[in-house]
Amino acid sequence: MKISDLRFTERKWDFVKPFHIANNVSSSKVNIEVELVLADGTIGLGEASSSFRVNGESNESIFQLSSEMLEAIKGLDVRDYRRVFKKLDAYSRSAPSLKAAVQFATLHAFSRLISTPVYQILGGMKDFVETDKTVSIGSLEETVNDAREIFNAGHKVIKMKVGEDLQSDIARVLAVNDEIKGVKYIIDANTGYTPKEALRFIDAMYRNSVPVGIFEQPVPAEDFDGLKIVRQGSMYPVGADESARTKFDVMRLIKEGAVDFVNIKLMKSGISDALAIVEMCNSAGIGLMIGCMSESGIGVSQSVHFAAGTGAFMYHDLDSHLLLKNVEPVGFRQERDRQYPILF
Ligand SMILES: [Mg+2]
Repeated sequence: MKISDLRFTERKWDFVKPFHIANNVSSSKVNIEVELVLADGTIGLGEASSSFRVNGESNESIFQLSSEMLEAIKGLDVRDYRRVFKKLDAYSRSAPSLKAAVQFATLHAFSRLISTPVYQILGGMKDFVETDKTVSIGSLEETVNDAREIFNAGHKVIKMKVGEDLQSDIARVLAVNDEIKGVKYIIDANTGYTPKEALRFIDAMYRNSVPVGIFEQPVPAEDFDGLKIVRQGSMYPVGADESARTKFDVMRLIKEGAVDFVNIKLMKSGISDALAIVEMCNSAGIGLMIGCMSESGIGVSQSVHFAAGTGAFMYHDLDSHLLLKNVEPVGFRQERDRQYPILF
């Protein structure tokens, strides 16, 4: 069944509370919902959450490419989805979030045609995944309260944002670790530290026996040498997020021995590069987590289907629908920390 049209709608979402990461605070997010229309009227859904900070893109810049993108894939059959993906790979740098949304919409339209959920088209490795939930940067008291709420909601992994002020970051994580037992932490500095600060942070965690699963993106995105220094001095696995956008970035990170983990996000890589990154990391013995970037229900669904389908991830950080107001899961069912992908 051939692709005949692409439709885009902007939708604004407010955060439940301002989302504060290293050097960045967001109170709302405008995403783009994609409808990919087939010749028989079947519609495939997708969602793009653009990020200037991570991808250098904006809704304005990606809208300018939308008609060109339609021309590139119009008339292709969604059953030949790898041909569609290949055309969309041209947008890996200029509009990665839109590439992701249209690639997912292609799979989703195909999924509706054959009444098979996307995660099974992608391999069906798991029936569900378990997500962490994130504590953003705040006061000591707020941090401990947020972490306790997340623990009480049934999450077994808590993600904590750091990277703005070393001493208060250390104090906040240690206070949470004193309060809550039996969870693991993903610590994300969002590029905020120098390599030396990162090593001081790790030392404080280690001396206090904090169970850190991954120390994510301690240093600036371009600083592969810095990542490598931190990795070599760290007792905990070190992961790349902002440094790992396309499959070519990940190839370089692996060659340079810079990381133990890669955080795949569909908004950075689309489905095609994400599939390549999974295979590269599996071959190189590099661990994988999957993350999100302020997607709402459809967008998180894209990642739930990808993660369950490939079964590739040790950690799932698919919580942005929980951080935004009035979002209903679309395409998956959430039970405590578990996310079950469904036909939709
Ligand atoms: Mg991150």
